[in-house]
Parts: sequence; structure tokens; C-alpha cells
Amino acid sequence: MAKKRILSGMRPTGKLHIGHYVGALENWIKLQNEYESYHLIADYHVLTTDLSTEEIYNNTIDMLIDWLASGLDPEKSPMFRQSQIKEHAELFLIFSMLITKARLERNPTLKEQVRDLNIENVIYGHLGYPVLQAADILLYKGEAVPVGEDQVPHVEITREIARKFNNQYGKVFTEPEPLLTKFARLPGLDGDAKMSKSLGNTILLSDDAETVKQKLRKAVTDPQKIRKNDPGRPEICLVFTYHQKFNPSEAQQIEKDCRSGVLGCVDCKLRCAEKINQFLAPILERRKKLEANLDYVKDVLIEGEKKARVVAEQTMSEVRNKMLIG
Ligand code: ATP
Ligand code: MG
Repeated sequence: MAKKRILSGMRPTGKLHIGHYVGALENWIKLQNEYESYHLIADYHVLTTDLSTEEIYNNTIDMLIDWLASGLDPEKSPMFRQSQIKEHAELFLIFSMLITKARLERNPTLKEQVRDLNIENVIYGHLGYPVLQAADILLYKGEAVPVGEDQVPHVEITREIARKFNNQYGKVFTEPEPLLTKFARLPGLDGDAKMSKSLGNTILLSDDAETVKQKLRKAVTDPQKIRKNDPGRPEICLVFTYHQKFNPSEAQQIEKDCRSGVLGCVDCKLRCAEKINQFLAPILERRKKLEANLDYVKDVLIEGEKKARVVAEQTMSEVRNKMLIG
């Protein structure tokens, strides 16, 4: 039986954080054996929130290093830039005719970004972000999309566009499903609901042990737990969420000791930092090797783009046939 296909991507806007890892990347790595996987570096999508382009290439390489250091295997999972496969732009144009402006304005992820980034006037391309994303996914006939929670509304829009195209011109696309992890929205160090580059509340996959310790020391905890012996509420504490992910064997005990007041925040944070550092150590090690071998990293991209292009051209020719164009 043919393997099902995955398409998922990220924007190259800087180094990745542990939210990207637990929300998406970890799943990509796990699923690359079961699925035929394609991973996109959404460089055109960067322009939706930042028009300057000087950093895009460096960020692309940095992100690729984060992916490879975390365990994504280029043999199983081609990795490629959206901008290098022209069919993304072509399918985006066609898809933009299949959805209304009102539908895109209802997108909760857009509303969240507008709020977080204090955007006064939304540009047309930002409103159309999910339409380009639909083209990204459907060009590879992605059936499963492993993403964090903020991307679920975009996958829903992708399904609607696939349905509309199939009804109008004949069946080309399958409607994709989002694949969520247990930590589909990891909170940030400041207590915000989402760890996010733009909010500056992150632990990076490339942070060294001391940095992680310092960052956690300043993390926001239960405001009612002021002194060590005050009882805490782990359910509202982001440090406890991190324990659940990175220190699962001790999480139950920590929950008990926080509630009873035996465990203070300072100790709890130190233990958490230690566990996160244990998790990051091999990633940092591999990152160092990759940074010393940038030619290899660039080759990964070139090879990935060759493989992606074959699939993209094939889908676009089906699309044009169904539409009686060309
Ligand atoms: P940020 O949101 O940090 O500014 P970004 O918006 O540039 O980063 P995206 O490319 O939108 O990053 O996200 C990449 C993937 O990581 C998406 O699947 C997204 O859902 C997931 N993701 C991002 N932040 C988190 C988080 N805090 N928890 C879980 N998943 C996350
Ligand atoms: Mg985001």
C-alpha cells in the first residue's frame, strides 16, 4: 500500500524554540518513517509580517540546521524553499479565486497575529496567508499536516479550497487532516498562552545550558505562590507544563509537592532547567557539527528542491488539465 503523504512547513524567521519542537517538529521526526514526508521552508510567507528580506536566507539555513539537528532525515523527508518552486505561486493564484474575503477575515489565527504584532492595516498577502498555505499543502497532495494548534484554522481553509476545486473542475485533491500533539500550544516563559518568537518568551533549541537556566529563573509562575511554603497551582504554571513534557517521570511528584508547598519555585525551576538541558544537549552537539559543514546543509536544500519540483510539476499539470488551461 502506498504511504500517506505529509506536508508541513515553517517560516524562516529565526532560530526555532521548544514550542516549535513539541508542537510540530517532534511529530515530523516521528512520522517520517510511516509517511512520505515533505517539509517546506515558507520563505514567501515571511513577507506577510515583515517586508525586509536581508535575513531570510540566513534564517533559512539556521532553521534547516535546527531541523537536521533535531533528527529530521533528508533521505526520508525532502526539505525545500517555497520560493524555489514556482508552482506554489501559480496554484496560489488559482486558489485565491475559490475563497471569499469574508471567509479569510473570520480566520482566528489572523486576528491573533494582528493583536500580538499590533498590526493596524492588514495587507492583502497577510489576509491571503492561508490561501498560499493551501497551495503549499495541496501541491504535494498532503493528506496529513502535523502542526501546532494555531495552524488548525488554516488546514480547515485548505480543506474548503480542496473541496471547492474538486467540485468545480473535477477531483485532484484530497482534503488534508491536521495532526496535533499533546503540546500543540506550549506556553511562553512570560505566562502568555503561546511561546512565540514575536513575543520574545522563548527557549531556543540552540540555547546553551546557562542561558536556559537564566531564562527559567525569570519564568512567571503562580502569582499566589510567593514564599516557598505557599501552596501552588501547577495547573496554571508554565514551568509545570514544561515538567510534564521534559520531565514526565517526576511530574506527578512535583505536582504534589507544589500543591502542598514542600517544593519552592526556585528548586522547581532548577530541576526543570536541568531536564530541558538534557534534552537539548544532543541537539546542540549535532548543531555544532552542521555549522562546521555548511556545504552539506546547502546540499540538503538543493536535493530537496529537486525532489519537490517533480511532484509540484506533476500536480500542476493535472490542475491545468482539469481546468482546460494549457
Ligand atoms: P512564532 O509563532 O514563534 O513567531 P512563527 O509564527 O514564525 O513562529 P510558524 O512557522 O507559524 O512560526 O510555526 C511553525 C510551526 O510551529 C507551526 O506548526 C506552529 O503551529 C508551531 N508552533 C509555533 N509555536 C508553537 C507553540 N508555542 N506551541 C506549539 N506549536 C507551536
Ligand atoms: Mg506562528
